[in-house]
Amino acid sequence: MSDSADDRPDLSDAQRAHLRDWAEANIPRGQCPWCKSSDWQIGDPVVLPAYLADGKPLVVLPVTCERCAYVRFHSARQMGFVGDQAARPE
Ligand SMILES: [Zn+2]
Repeated sequence: MSDSADDRPDLSDAQRAHLRDWAEANIPRGQCPWCKSSDWQIGDPVVLPAYLADGKPLVVLPVTCERCAYVRFHSARQMGFVGDQAARPE
């Protein structure tokens, strides 16, 4: 992870477009488990302070309930994003 205060991954426009398209096509909206709303907003990719088994940072797309603000995360890895982010520091 970078030292900057901005934890958004350094993705190209094409990578962001791929993740956005994949998410729009594949992430089920369903009902929010808390307020039962079905209105969800897919956000920009973010890097969580966690690492995958191969040492790469965990990049996720937040999906936020428009009514109660509950947030769930979907892994960018499963969307085909392997990324060129720095590996876990030694
Ligand atoms: Zn909700």
